[in-house]
Amino acid sequence: MQLILFGPPGVGKGTQAKKLSAKYGIPHISTGDILREAVKNKTALGIRAQEIMQRGELVPDDIMVGIVRDTLKKPRCKTGFILDGFPRSLGQAESLNKILAELKINNIYIINITASEEELIKRLTNRRACKSCGSIFNYKEIKDKKECPVCHADNSFYQRNDDKEDVIRNRLKVYSSTTKPVLQYYKKHNYVIDINGLQEIEEVTNNILSALSNMKNN
Ligand SMILES: [Zn+2]
Repeated sequence: MQLILFGPPGVGKGTQAKKLSAKYGIPHISTGDILREAVKNKTALGIRAQEIMQRGELVPDDIMVGIVRDTLKKPRCKTGFILDGFPRSLGQAESLNKILAELKINNIYIINITASEEELIKRLTNRRACKSCGSIFNYKEIKDKKECPVCHADNSFYQRNDDKEDVIRNRLKVYSSTTKPVLQYYKKHNYVIDINGLQEIEEVTNNILSALSNMKNN
């Protein structure tokens, strides 16, 4: 089973990727993780990526594509994988097609977890973190509390910069402008499964699983 997962920040994409990974026994390939792995293992591409990141620059497409190719060729991806955070541009999508052709994979499923911008903003601006232990809570859970339920620190709740409204709006804008063309591309060539992400975690997982099992039976 080869999956590509799309979803805006805050929709719970990472959580779903983990659940699908456990359910199907296939690895969750997040670009952040495989980039760190390549740097740590000092692969040829990892060394180049590290030099670029040390200069404070973004890792260019050709290196990222190379790292994805190296990863998908590994034995652990033999029975499938879940790609998360890739492809992020049309160029990357076209490169991925070539990699899949090399690997003789002709059946990929694209899952697009959706949510309205306003709902995501509501969800994310409601988050509070504990300064002392880093745990994340929903504002509703802690609004009457003075003490962190995890580490028992006093008056330690705050709103992280990442959870402030203007920061979130900007991330959502960047997501939608970069992802839209990629999704359009896949809608032309593949079947994209849209899943409503604004439900309980279990329900989202079940909807993905049943959509996938319908696809396989058709
Ligand atoms: Zn705490």
